[in-house]
Amino acid sequence: MSRISQRIGSISESKTLAVSAKARALREAGHNVIGFGAGEPDFPTPAHIVAAAAEACAVPRYHKYSPAAGLPELRQAVADKTTADAGFPVTPGQVLVTNGAKHSVFATMATLLDPGDEVLLPVPYWVTYPEAIKLAGGVTVPVSSDIENGFRVDVDALEAAWTPRTKVLLFVSPSNPSGAVYRPEEVEAIGRWAADKGIWVVSDDIYEYLVYGDAQFTSMAGLVPAIRDKSVLINGVAKAYAMTGWRVGWMVGPPDVIAAASNLQSHSTSNVCNIAQVAALAALEGSRAPVFSMREAFDRRRRTMYRMLEDIPGVQVREPEGAFYAFPSLEAFLHRPVGGRVSSTTAELAEVILEEALVAFVPGEAFGMPGYGRFSYALGDEDLEEGLHRMADLLTG
Ligand code: PMP
Repeated sequence: MSRISQRIGSISESKTLAVSAKARALREAGHNVIGFGAGEPDFPTPAHIVAAAAEACAVPRYHKYSPAAGLPELRQAVADKTTADAGFPVTPGQVLVTNGAKHSVFATMATLLDPGDEVLLPVPYWVTYPEAIKLAGGVTVPVSSDIENGFRVDVDALEAAWTPRTKVLLFVSPSNPSGAVYRPEEVEAIGRWAADKGIWVVSDDIYEYLVYGDAQFTSMAGLVPAIRDKSVLINGVAKAYAMTGWRVGWMVGPPDVIAAASNLQSHSTSNVCNIAQVAALAALEGSRAPVFSMREAFDRRRRTMYRMLEDIPGVQVREPEGAFYAFPSLEAFLHRPVGGRVSSTTAELAEVILEEALVAFVPGEAFGMPGYGRFSYALGDEDLEEGLHRMADLLTG
């Protein structure tokens, strides 16, 4: 018998670990490393949210266990928010509050998948999805996209990947890591296709409010009523409200799925920290002005990053439309010297750029798309420009 179970032993080690560990070591040694790796806003949580949490600390009711599925007032607020934003009626019984959206991804896969069930997963994908699918016994079926089509998959690509074992389509727009945002007509076409196939659609809407220019967020379940009965929406406060550390997310789905997932949660984690839930409630009930001002800052940085990446000869980049990531191709810098060293993969190139330019980013290997790199623009304007200058100097030197 092995010491570690096969199920847990099969989880892949994070492919970003090597670069982030080295970045940390360099920083600790006193080097000024500029990090494009972070998947979180650099802003503090808005003050009115922090104040609501501080007040909640003194309320004895919040010192106790609360309902596993979430505080009733937060489930109601999430139901109202989803009704307004997604555009279809949602009741509190269709909401499960979880420890961040990541936990919702895990809970959703655990609740929907039986061993061997296939999940269609557009590439590039967020690192956690394949692991959550695997842990639930499911099988990831990658659906490739490319930079020319803006990293968006279409119905033909999905149809080609579909098999009678397909149970779920995992849909993410705006996307981490590509920054792609699907057009409403694309969302509708994919939704209609999923309804025809009778498969589930899990849509991760965590970057809903972070769209720029002409791009707009579209809820597939809002647009295509036929999928609502087999639809799970994942969302949370982390990205829009600069609340990554508070760990509050939620899944919204049909009552039977939410009841089953709540059952799982009641035996695994019980309720999410009450103080954090009160903070999330303050976020949802309060003004969205802080969200918009953070979005403005991200938009400005997005445009700077896009322009600066585009100006580096050899870098191929699509203008990101949502979330806070650019996902350029760095293929032109493989198999030839950069800073006197030759890399054959973007994972190696990321190490070279870190060591030679003190700039950290996440290589595309982590997202199922080698040859590319993910650069977060959720960092200060000056650091952003300085980091991109350094990288440009190294790549073109
Ligand atoms: N979904 C996507 C696409 C993400 O990028 C992230 C965070 N990196 C999450 C979910 C998880 O968010 P949370 O912090 O709420 O767990």
